[in-house]
Amino acid sequence: MLPPKLSNEARSAAGMKAVKARQDRAVVKKSISDGALSFFDLFNDQRECIQRMKLMEALNCVPGVGEKRVNIIFERTGISRSRRIGGVGKKQRELLREEFLLMKTAPIPGKLLVVSGPSGVGKSTITKGLRNFDNFWVSISATTRALRQGEVDGKDYLFVTNERFDQMVENNEFLEWAEFTGAKYGTPALPVTKALEQGLNVVLEIELNGARQIRKKVKEAVLIFIEPPSWIELESRLVNRGTESSQSLEMRLNKAKEELKAASEFDFVLVNTKVEQVVQELVSLALH
Ligand code: 5GP
Repeated sequence: MLPPKLSNEARSAAGMKAVKARQDRAVVKKSISDGALSFFDLFNDQRECIQRMKLMEALNCVPGVGEKRVNIIFERTGISRSRRIGGVGKKQRELLREEFLLMKTAPIPGKLLVVSGPSGVGKSTITKGLRNFDNFWVSISATTRALRQGEVDGKDYLFVTNERFDQMVENNEFLEWAEFTGAKYGTPALPVTKALEQGLNVVLEIELNGARQIRKKVKEAVLIFIEPPSWIELESRLVNRGTESSQSLEMRLNKAKEELKAASEFDFVLVNTKVEQVVQELVSLALH
C-alpha cells in the first residue's frame, strides 16, 4: 500500500523539522568534539533528533576516538552498529563507560606492515615517505653487508659483523632473518614489539624469505608486495642507482625474477609508478 499523500503544508513542515533536527545534531556533535559536552550527556537529552541519532555518529565525534577505536568499541561491547542513542540500554552504557576508561590506559596496538618486493623496486624510498607520518615506525634491520656510500650506521641499518649477527640469531633476537645475495639481514624483535604496543604501525622492509617467516609467525601482519611498472624499468632503476658491482647486479636481477613470481602470496600488490601514491595507499591500508 502506498503511504498517504502529504498536503503541501505538511510536506513543508516535515522538511523544516528535518532541517532543524540536522542543525540540532550538528550543534551537539560539535560540542562533543570540542569537549564542551560529555558523550554520556547525550543519553539524558530527550529531544527526538538526539534520541534518533546513530550511536556510531556520536562516537566518531569524541576526541581521541578514531575509526579504529570505534570498530573496537562495537566489537568488544557487542552493540549493534546501527543502534541509535535512544536504543542504548543501561548495561550497554556501562560497557561504553568501561571502553572509555580503557581508551585512556591501553592504546590500540599498531599494525605490522611488511613491505617486500624485488631489489631496486623503490621500497626504501617508499618507507622513507612513511617516516613522515607520526603513527608509523620503520624498523631498522641488522645486516652484515658493507655500508654503502651515504648510508648511516644505526639509521639505514645496524651494520654488524658476521659473528655479531650469528650471536643475535643464537640469542633469538630476530623476529625473522634471511640471507640475500651474500649477506645476512634480520629484524630485531624487541623494538618492533615495543612500537606495536605503543600503538605505532610498524613497517618492515624485507625480502621474500623474511616476509614468509612473518606470515607464519604473525597472523595479523599485512603483507604488501611492491611491483615495478615493468621489468625494463626495474633493470634500469637498479643499474642507475649505481650501488652494486656487476656481480651483485646480476645476482639481484636473478633474485628479482624469483621474487616477482611470489607476488600472489601477498595480501596486497601495489605497483610503484608514483612513490607518493604508494605511500598514501600504505597509509590507508594501515587504517583498515
Ligand atoms: P639492500 O642490500 O639493497 O639494502 O637490501 C637487500 C634486500 O634485503 C632488500 O630486498 C631488503 O628489503 C632486504 N632486507 C633488508 N632488511 C631486511 C631484514 O631485516 N630481513 C630480511 N629478510 N630482508 C631484509
